[in-house]
Amino acid sequence: MRIINLRGRLAVDVSADGQSIAVDVAKASAGRFGPDPQSVYAVWDEFSDWTAALAPEQAAGEPFDATELGAPVPRPAQVFAIGLNYREHALEAGTGLPERPMVFTKFPAAVTGPAGTVELPPGDNDWEIELVAVIGRRADRVSAERAWSFVAGLTVGQDLSERRSQVAGPAPAQYSLAKSFRGFAPIGPAVVTPDEFTDPGDLALACTLNGETVQEGRTGDMIFGLAELVAHLSAVLPLLPGDLIFTGTPPGIGAGRTPPRFLRAGDVLVSSIDGIGHMRHEFTDATRKEHH
Ligand code: ZN
Repeated sequence: MRIINLRGRLAVDVSADGQSIAVDVAKASAGRFGPDPQSVYAVWDEFSDWTAALAPEQAAGEPFDATELGAPVPRPAQVFAIGLNYREHALEAGTGLPERPMVFTKFPAAVTGPAGTVELPPGDNDWEIELVAVIGRRADRVSAERAWSFVAGLTVGQDLSERRSQVAGPAPAQYSLAKSFRGFAPIGPAVVTPDEFTDPGDLALACTLNGETVQEGRTGDMIFGLAELVAHLSAVLPLLPGDLIFTGTPPGIGAGRTPPRFLRAGDVLVSSIDGIGHMRHEFTDATRKEHH
């Protein structure tokens, strides 16, 4: 099953034969489930049962365009992110390999959808393609063996990062704010349930900048796999339905290049994971705005 946010409403992607088709969940369920895409994770088991029983005649959908999609999880309560979770990326970052998961947050208001423009703040703005897991059941002190049953699905994420305000040390470390500028946590295009993959623990991920491949990897190369991350985080505090885990990025970030390369206005970044799909973002310079 593929869950999407179509024009702000919860929908199931039933695309076939190259045609993008969506079923509006609130209409097809006669109001049993509301239209808010965030609301479904609190009733995930019930929702899964309903979609499994969705009859073809109920599933008559409407065509849609990828530019109409919003974040499939628009308002997570918590967004965890893991740094240095691929060996080659830890080496390009110039740090040692972590002995336990290196955890920070992307603040939830940075979440945005899989298409459109993102404003670049002043500084050195960088890309990080990442697999993002969506929690489907409250996970409190969950073992790695049981962890996957608490995952609603997987989506594509970009851990956009402004490197000048990101400090690894020896000065006091600062990660979270540098990775939480407006629009710096895009996710989408769909949340795909684990049963849709041959092996949800080993997916190819890549991103291109203006058509040139800058990152390629496989999630099977993570130092700490998703099950271990769920166990590690849920030992500290409960993971809540609709929470996100950004699981780390493979090598190929701009800061690791010689010379370093950062995002500029007009650049187009395409982020993709096999079996999930791709996101496409264009960047603009942030203009100073007064907010009232
Ligand atoms: Zn990252």
